[in-house]
Amino acid sequence: MITSTPSGLFCEAGNFFIDPWEPVARALVTHAHSDHARPGSASYLCAAPGETVLRRRIPDAAIQTLPYGETITIGDTRVSFHPAGHILGSAQIRVENRGEVWVVSGDYKRAADPTCDPFEPITCHTFITEATFALPIYTWDPADTTVEEILGWWRANREEERPSVLFCYVLGKAQRILAELRGRSEGPIHLHGAVAGLTDAYRDAGVAMAPAERITEGMRGKMLARSLVLAPLSARGTLWMKRLPNASVAFASGLMRVRGVRRQRAFDRGFVLSDHADWPALLATVAGTGATRVLVTHGWSDALARFLAEERGLETGTIRTAFEGETGELTEASEDRAPEMPPSEEK
Ligand SMILES: [Zn+2]
Ligand SMILES: [Zn+2]
Repeated sequence: MITSTPSGLFCEAGNFFIDPWEPVARALVTHAHSDHARPGSASYLCAAPGETVLRRRIPDAAIQTLPYGETITIGDTRVSFHPAGHILGSAQIRVENRGEVWVVSGDYKRAADPTCDPFEPITCHTFITEATFALPIYTWDPADTTVEEILGWWRANREEERPSVLFCYVLGKAQRILAELRGRSEGPIHLHGAVAGLTDAYRDAGVAMAPAERITEGMRGKMLARSLVLAPLSARGTLWMKRLPNASVAFASGLMRVRGVRRQRAFDRGFVLSDHADWPALLATVAGTGATRVLVTHGWSDALARFLAEERGLETGTIRTAFEGETGELTEASEDRAPEMPPSEEK
């Protein structure tokens, strides 16, 4: 019912693409991350809560929205969007044709996130799952534990009048951290411009977060010495950082589970916080769908497909994406783009 094409996942019965990476006539989008929502398509359909963010990412797009759980007919298919728990507005897309049901999960997580609706398990025959962190070494602590670690690091830096620069993915992760810090923040929070714009889109959508101020041109040095600063990884090593001399630098990502990565990249601290499912959550989710066929994409897809076939007796396959194979590079979007980082050392 859904096939992998050079432009992305295509449903012939409905004549639409899901998360296409080439411009198409009709794109159904699971969420606004750049490896899923590409510009140039004639029309977009997303879950209603994702509209403000998708509009900021693709400003001139023709966007239609659908509330979670509502079903529409497209061609010969019945289509509905269901929460994926990944970022604001992220959705699994359920497609039904002649009694057969497929679910395309996009990216998802099972941990609670104050910025979005929780993942909803959907029964289906075929489940397309992500595999960004599909190795047994990837297990997450509760977000609360990680937030306490961030607060402790920030507190210690404040006492030394050192800014705390926390690099994180600008869409989703930054806002999740701000939401977790609501009512718990102990000092000023400042945002890099790239984080501030998307945070505005979250506030426009009604997400409650800790107050935070955009860093403007004249802000530097002493003015930021007690601040927690959220910034994209791409700001690291740029002139922008000159305003934050002597900063302690940290990275918030599931990649920080592998201690060697933190050392190798010379972060003072690494905080394990991911918007993707960890290994146990991936297995539980697949089992929860009741699917007898599972197609795996994003990241460690071969490892997960092999495990599900050999240990669970499922029919499996893998789907390549256009964003595979940026090996080893920690970029701003690296967590979402599923880098094939050798997990040499377990925490
Ligand atoms: Zn994503
Ligand atoms: Zn992704």
